[in-house]
Amino acid sequence: MSVETYYRDSWAEIDLSRIQHNIYELKQTLPEQTGIYAVVKANAYGHGDIQVAKAAEAAGVKGFAVALLDEAIRLREEGIKAPILVMGWVRPEDAAIAAREKISLTAFQPEWIEEAGQSLSPTCPLSIHMKWDTGMGRIGIRTVKEMDELLTALDTSLYTLDGVFTHFATADEEDATYFHEQQERFDLLLSAFQERWSGDVEIHTGNSATAMRFPETMNHYVRFGIGMYGLYPSPDVKAMDIMPLEPALSLHSKLIHVKQLPKGEAISYGATYVTSDEEWIGTVPLGYADGWKRSLQGTDVLVNGKRCPIVGKVCMDQIMIRLDQQYPIGTHVTFIGRQEEEEITSDEIAAHLDTINYEVTCMISYRVPRVFVQDGKTIGSQNGAR
Ligand SMILES: *Cc1c(COP(=O)(O)O)cnc(C)c1O
Repeated sequence: MSVETYYRDSWAEIDLSRIQHNIYELKQTLPEQTGIYAVVKANAYGHGDIQVAKAAEAAGVKGFAVALLDEAIRLREEGIKAPILVMGWVRPEDAAIAAREKISLTAFQPEWIEEAGQSLSPTCPLSIHMKWDTGMGRIGIRTVKEMDELLTALDTSLYTLDGVFTHFATADEEDATYFHEQQERFDLLLSAFQERWSGDVEIHTGNSATAMRFPETMNHYVRFGIGMYGLYPSPDVKAMDIMPLEPALSLHSKLIHVKQLPKGEAISYGATYVTSDEEWIGTVPLGYADGWKRSLQGTDVLVNGKRCPIVGKVCMDQIMIRLDQQYPIGTHVTFIGRQEEEEITSDEIAAHLDTINYEVTCMISYRVPRVFVQDGKTIGSQNGAR
């Protein structure tokens, strides 16, 4: 793995052993015949796509799922040979590129099949998975009539139909009523499909929440995203206590300036924070351009195993924090992760931002170097700013 140099004191640490642990945990609950597609879209939810993909492959995942053709091509360029499925819509004129790279695409529109087919040739057919919209309302065929239209358009000299799949909208909620409705719709479409199609296809329906909660109904594959990164799909699923996941990402920086201010001195843009006493103020080189949003003003970071609040407005590249005492320059500051007995989780940050943990790891920007750790040793790094 490559080590890229960087010249700043803020970094995200990605513990690849934890990613592998989370895969093993899921594997133990899945039936023998159910394989795992690691979902590494969006730079592996901000963790670093290539490094995560290689670690996941070593832990036994059978393939990868991404959202964009660009993401799939990046994996191929970095030497990933396993099956890759693009789960989103790809422009039909780009289908030949996918075919050449042996990347599977998602299909659900007969006109797309016609148009993409014009650039394909029987010497290099395109692998497709047919998407069924059973209630997510996003992409996919909804009826047997639409399935028939798609299958009629499908020229089997240009395409191989390798999979059918759907996506659940509420699998992370305690109430499974709507999940079961979607499951019923899926079963109806599946029996209609099996009457019409004799070839072998992979069937996959489950994301992390579905795979963790209903492992026995997962058919050939699951698409394992958030759980692989050690985060629970929702507080509901976390409360179910199904398996012990370990968060792979932590976010760190260092104090670059420390000063003692008298009472009544203002901090940062707008002078919104004023010291209420003599206070030790530290400056930390991480800001909203690194993904630490302005609305995180007032939340805590960890210094010396203790919580310290962010005071004043978050700047583009820096924040100020109130320290409990003087600390030397270079003192470790943790934004996400553990210091001694204290921990700040992505779930805590998500709650502050009124969002989900998925968005927290995705929001850490390209500018923050990723440092990859395996079995406690640093094995590589990626500097997104260059
Ligand atoms: C992102 C995505 C997944 C992964 O979902 P997680 O909840 O992160 O496991 C699975 N399937 C589809 C279609 C997706 O878009």
